[in-house]
Order: sequence, then structure tokens, then C-alpha cells
Amino acid sequence: MVKDKYDVVVIGAGPAGSVTSRFAAENGASVLMLERDREPGIPVRCAEGVSHRGIAPFIEIDKRWIANQIDVAKLHAPNGESAYMYNNGTGYVLERRIFDTVLCDLAVKRGVHLVTKADALDSVWDNNKIAGIKYKYFGEIRTV
Ligand SMILES: Cc1cc2nc3c(=O)[nH]c(=O)nc-3n(C[C@H](O)[C@H](O)[C@H](O)COP(=O)(O)OP(=O)(O)OC[C@H]3O[C@@H](n4cnc5c(N)ncnc54)[C@H](O)[C@@H]3O)c2cc1C
Repeated sequence: MVKDKYDVVVIGAGPAGSVTSRFAAENGASVLMLERDREPGIPVRCAEGVSHRGIAPFIEIDKRWIANQIDVAKLHAPNGESAYMYNNGTGYVLERRIFDTVLCDLAVKRGVHLVTKADALDSVWDNNKIAGIKYKYFGEIRTV
């Protein structure tokens, strides 16, 4: 049940939004996460390459959302030059659709309220502070 007051409102259920809202909820905040798409992670707009060190602090590595392992990457510049990138360890090609969904599920399991098809439109100001968010949900303008 969506309330009209929360400690934290997070806009966007991408990796940043899901991890931020999960950490906020784990630390006792009531959290609403608004996502304009029907579900997180779709459509995928990413080449899906990450380093192990980049994601390991935030989520336990799980084969379900790993398409492949990377040992070394080669970067190609528009001027034709290229360079190898060694990550000091492993990297992965993710399945972003699954990865984003798992991160979002973890947030919801920690008590985050998720509303999809909710398009954040504007902030609500009170005494020079952001006091709320206006969002559109199935044609209806709501304020939280
Ligand atoms: C072509 C391309 C290739 C890439 N390749 C890589 C790569 O190989 N490796 C890598 O690490 N990174 C890559 N990136 C970058 C990576 O995709 C982003 O850094 C990452 O997705 C950012 O995560 P995020 O949670 O901040 O934002 P996003 O993943 O963009 O999530 C934002 C979410 O917010 C929602 N949203 C936006 N506005 C609103 C609103 N007003 N109301 C409600 N919801 C809203 C969106 O629908 C979306 O779900 C690539 C990006 C692109 C475009």
C-alpha cells in the first residue's frame, strides 16, 4: 500500500536507485521508489561490462545474471588507437535485465515500496527545501 509520506523517495529503479533505496531501508528509513517503465532493467541500454571490484561490494555475485567472464578488455578510440585494460582481476558481461531485477527485488525485500509506470515530474518545494515529488501514475498526478 503506497503512503503519501516517506523518509526517502528514490526516482528510478536502475542499479543506483535500487542499491540506494535498499541501503536506506536497511538503515531504518521508509522508502518509496518510483520507476517510469513497466519493470526495472528493460529496455537494456548498456554494453553490460563491469569489473568484479565494481559490483562485489553491493551484491553477492550470482551466475544467474552473468553472461560471460572478462579477463582483459580492449578499448578502441575513434582515432584508431587502442589500449588493453587490465582490471586487476575478473570482470563480467552482465545480463542487465536480470541484474537490475535482482537488485530491485533485494530492495523490495528490505521493505522498499516500488511503484512502476510512475513518471516523476517535478519536485515540491517548501521553505527552499525539497519536500516532495509530483509523479504521474496512469494519467493521475500524485504527490508524495
Ligand atoms: C550504450 C551504453 C552502453 C553502456 N555500457 C556500459 C558498460 O559496458 N559498462 C558499464 O558499467 N556501464 C555501461 N553503460 C552505463 C550504464 O548503463 C549506466 O552507468 C547505468 O545504467 C547507470 O545506472 P543508474 O541506476 O544510475 O541509471 P539507469 O540504469 O539509467 O536507471 C535509471 C532508471 O530511472 C528511470 N527513470 C528515469 N527518469 C525517471 C523519472 N522521471 N521517473 C521515474 N523513473 C525514471 C529509468 O526508466 C531507469 O529505469 C552504458 C550506457 C549506455 C547508454
